[in-house]
Amino acid sequence: STQIQLVRRPSGWPTHEDFRTVTVPYGDLEPGQVRVRNEFVSVDPYMRGRMNDSRSYVAPYALGETITGGAVGRVVESAADEVPVGAVVLHQHGWTDVIQADAGTFRVLADVPGVPLSVRLHILGMTGMTAYVGLTEIAGLKAGDTVFVSGAAGAVGTAAGQIAKLLGAKRVIGSAGSAEKVALLTEKYGYDAAFNYKDGDVRGQLAAAAPEGIDVFFDNVGGEHLEAALEAFNDGGRAALCGAISAYNATERPAGPDNMPNLITRGLTLRGFTLGHYLHLAPEFTERMTGWFAAGSIAYDETIVDGIEHTVDAFLDMMRGANTGKMLVRI
Ligand code: NDP
Repeated sequence: STQIQLVRRPSGWPTHEDFRTVTVPYGDLEPGQVRVRNEFVSVDPYMRGRMNDSRSYVAPYALGETITGGAVGRVVESAADEVPVGAVVLHQHGWTDVIQADAGTFRVLADVPGVPLSVRLHILGMTGMTAYVGLTEIAGLKAGDTVFVSGAAGAVGTAAGQIAKLLGAKRVIGSAGSAEKVALLTEKYGYDAAFNYKDGDVRGQLAAAAPEGIDVFFDNVGGEHLEAALEAFNDGGRAALCGAISAYNATERPAGPDNMPNLITRGLTLRGFTLGHYLHLAPEFTERMTGWFAAGSIAYDETIVDGIEHTVDAFLDMMRGANTGKMLVRI
């Protein structure tokens, strides 16, 4: 199989020299093992953090080991009764076209007609659930709230805007990094207003889009976006701090928000979270999202890159914003 490994810890933006592609030969299956051919491999922003040798909520990647992460595929050979040939599986073996490992490391998924395999890596999977948990459990979204989502045209962001509306938000505002993405937010994803943060003056643009202020901020970006939200918050506003991608490739510490006293005077709650601590909400998320999905209430986009050998490009392109919705590698 062809696998991608980290061989050097990137400083700032990763380059191809930080990775290598290796061919891993697999022998016959041992009892209890299965062999899976991946169909889709996920590239995700959190992977950038794991490339550093620093404390985070997931351990750093080891140098010389295949990059692990979400993927879906089909079993092509099996020496384990519980995971038979043909089963569709979700797993964390990451950036590889084929993987052979213990059956216990794969989760068999129901192969539901009308539900493409790829969506298990986003809208019906990790990124969709992140949006749901952030809005409900972390930000305490209430009907009638005005919600601002940064990074709105990505995998988490496209889910967050739609879920906010489905849960009764009065007005949903999004920001993204191109005119095309901004148009998509209002035309396809039900946002009431959207702006391009690359046009500058994030504070001014948010204020114009939210003349009556915001109650909930779902933050994927940090930095200037957080500053702008602190300015726009109504009393009692709540932020779910999901990510801060504007700083993931920075080599220097970014300047902090200059208006933190708004936390005090407006009684704001800014609460960070990582999905791993809220997995008990998976059944609730799956039930509601499957219902919305089946009812045709959920739109999504995928940006697909073909071939395991282009996984690093897919990852870097995603970090630069080349994706709309979920960036995936198709094997
Ligand atoms: P996306 O699909 O949103 O892809 C990343 C996007 O980030 C790009 O498309 C780009 O869009 C945007 N971006 C890149 N650089 C900047 C910048 N400097 N300023 C503003 N936007 C930028 O990725 P995900 O949906 O998978 O993840 C979104 C966020 O959620 C990330 O911060 C991630 O770390 C976080 N996350 C957190 C989880 C948790 O448990 N807390 C779980 C999953 C994700 P554009 O063209 O708009 O710039």
